[in-house]
Amino acid sequence: SNEQIALFTIFGGTGDLAQRKLYPSLFRLYRKGYLKEHFAVIGTARREWSDEYYRDIVSQSIASFKPTEDELVQFTSHFYYQSHNVTDTEHYTNLKKLADNLDTRYDLKQNRIFYLAMAPNFFGTITSHLKSENIVTEKGFNHLIIEKPFGTDFESANNLNNEIREAFEEEQIFRIDHYLGKEMIQNISAIRFGNNIFESLWNNKYIDNIQITLAESLGVEERGGYYDTSGALKDMIQNHTMQVVSLLAMEPPAIFTEKNIREEKVKALNSIRIYSEDEVKENFVRGQYGAGELDGKTFIPYREEINVNPESETETFVAGKLMVDNFRWRGVPFYVRSGKQLTEKGTRINIVFKPTPINVFRSENETACEAETMPPNVLTIYIQPTEGFSLTMNGKEIGDGFNIDPIKLDYRHSAEALDNSPEAYEKLILDCLKGDGTNFSHWDEVAQSWRIVDVIRKTWDNETPDFPNYASGTMGPKAAFDLLEQDGFNWVWTP
Ligand code: NAD
Repeated sequence: SNEQIALFTIFGGTGDLAQRKLYPSLFRLYRKGYLKEHFAVIGTARREWSDEYYRDIVSQSIASFKPTEDELVQFTSHFYYQSHNVTDTEHYTNLKKLADNLDTRYDLKQNRIFYLAMAPNFFGTITSHLKSENIVTEKGFNHLIIEKPFGTDFESANNLNNEIREAFEEEQIFRIDHYLGKEMIQNISAIRFGNNIFESLWNNKYIDNIQITLAESLGVEERGGYYDTSGALKDMIQNHTMQVVSLLAMEPPAIFTEKNIREEKVKALNSIRIYSEDEVKENFVRGQYGAGELDGKTFIPYREEINVNPESETETFVAGKLMVDNFRWRGVPFYVRSGKQLTEKGTRINIVFKPTPINVFRSENETACEAETMPPNVLTIYIQPTEGFSLTMNGKEIGDGFNIDPIKLDYRHSAEALDNSPEAYEKLILDCLKGDGTNFSHWDEVAQSWRIVDVIRKTWDNETPDFPNYASGTMGPKAAFDLLEQDGFNWVWTP
């Protein structure tokens, strides 16, 4: 059977993440039979809640799945609430008692998953107590799931990691980057390593540039307080974007296993050039949204958002060029951009292939140098909201004469397939139950990503930005377009 056996302890069990993502994911795993009889969930937070009240909250968070009354009672009967202040050592005694009880009642084989859905400044306290108060078991597995952000720079991430490593081994730590749970991010490897026509061209001889866009149409909404201390560089580039770059740039693993993939991803990240401050100024630009209007909707500027400093210098947009200094990629820019309140929501990767060496379709009175190059072939991977891929190719326009017409081979997964496909958190929780760390961020990856990003942050912190510098509803500041134009390229962005 597929049944997985474990006790989940969720720190921050009353919080937003738990209610919006974790309980729904656990329910989906339950419906699919991955969780059956042998699982239990302890929700903890400071508030005093009864099990009944907690089960009501869990019920509400899964209401959209329309569970039957029976399903609801069965599923939520596995949930228990323990009021718990994570900084109070005595509270861990109660937690241990409950955990051991549930282990016996549900025959959980001492398998434990600790989910830290709380602010990172508590991580060290929690992990050291889990160890010292013997909540970490001897016999079963003990897996720790950690949410982003993992540190705010290399130094703080390193300190945090050292604290956690006093209680847990690297193999027991599952750092969530929910992008790695997305269907089409996992598809990058399928496209590359399953198709010789792509992988054999996947290098600086045939690829002109690679573009990664993580665009959001919304602003900061109610998360202004958190966002204003973070900004787009730390919120989107250091983690999600760098993970995507490593998957695109890595060498093929000998075999598709966690260890082999990890090694190749780390090698790729280690090949990304760490810029000097001058190079940062040449290769990275930032932006902050001002007011704007799109399709009859008006947007307020970032500085007027709730819980945002009215003179905030926090960037809501980043664009940059990364260089991967190795044999395969030397000279191929990896352009990345991410921003809020842009024209549309969309995460996409564009692989822009080099045009044919010469345009044989030019007119006879044009020299090969004068003639425009052929439009490039572009492989697009659509991550969200639509999922699929497309390839633009040049063909002959139907009719008289001989005109070249770029056409698009386009495949998108159907709405039905998407509805049935697992949500990122669901996939990642299942991976963690199975002990598969492939789609989580290893410390070596996190560390190197911070080293790359730290110098950008430092350079920017030394200069006052001219914000706001892009209108809401656009695709960011002019500088982000100039960045590619000065290299002779453009952002590829078609529906
Ligand atoms: P939240 O503020 O909604 O929840 C925090 C939880 O921690 C609450 O249950 C609160 O009661 C509990 N808590 C706070 N102090 C405590 C203490 N001393 N002892 C015991 N419990 C305590 O936050 P959230 O949005 O659920 O986010 C949790 C973590 O996940 C954060 O690190 C956040 O950055 C990260 N994260 C959240 C999301 C999201 O979508 N909400 C997405 C990505 C990452």
